[in-house]
Amino acid sequence: MSIAVLALQGAFAEHCQMLARLGAEPFLVRNRADWQRPCDGLVIPGGESTAMLRIIRDLDLCEPVRAAIRGGLPVLGTCAGLIMLDAGHLDTMHIRVRRNAYGRQLGSFATEGEFRGVGRIPMTFIRAPYITELGPGATELASVDGHIVAAREGRQVVTAFHPELGDDTRVHRYFLDLCRS
Ligand code: GLN
Repeated sequence: MSIAVLALQGAFAEHCQMLARLGAEPFLVRNRADWQRPCDGLVIPGGESTAMLRIIRDLDLCEPVRAAIRGGLPVLGTCAGLIMLDAGHLDTMHIRVRRNAYGRQLGSFATEGEFRGVGRIPMTFIRAPYITELGPGATELASVDGHIVAAREGRQVVTAFHPELGDDTRVHRYFLDLCRS
């Protein structure tokens, strides 16, 4: 299975390693030419959403990526990738997001939590957002301390934490199952 990994900025390499470990074939998308290649799913990694949005616009990738996701391409957005799907950015998912929700300096921590359909998993947060509101069609997949940190809407899955860090492959497996279905 061929999975595009948006590689404009941020933590894309770790996603590629995780996907390859699970037998998928990840490839990097750095420009419009890369985006021409057919894929079964897309990963938008963590990083800095402000920078990522600027670059995706500069490369004229905003529209084609938005159209593909709206057309049903499965997508996994992690941390800044989650923010990229909200109304202020690609606007494909009905969620409201608070950026740097845990504070800028002390906002990085690791915990464990229940992820619906997957089980209890480690969750690493790095200057993470959380979801303040789920719109129509969006459902919660995980919460930590009363805040929604993972959600799904159709074939879009987002996490405020970084499932690509560490050894637990279950969130990526969950995503690949979605790409297969
Ligand atoms: N703080 C970043 C942002 O707002 C997200 C951090 C991350 O992706 N680890 O875009």
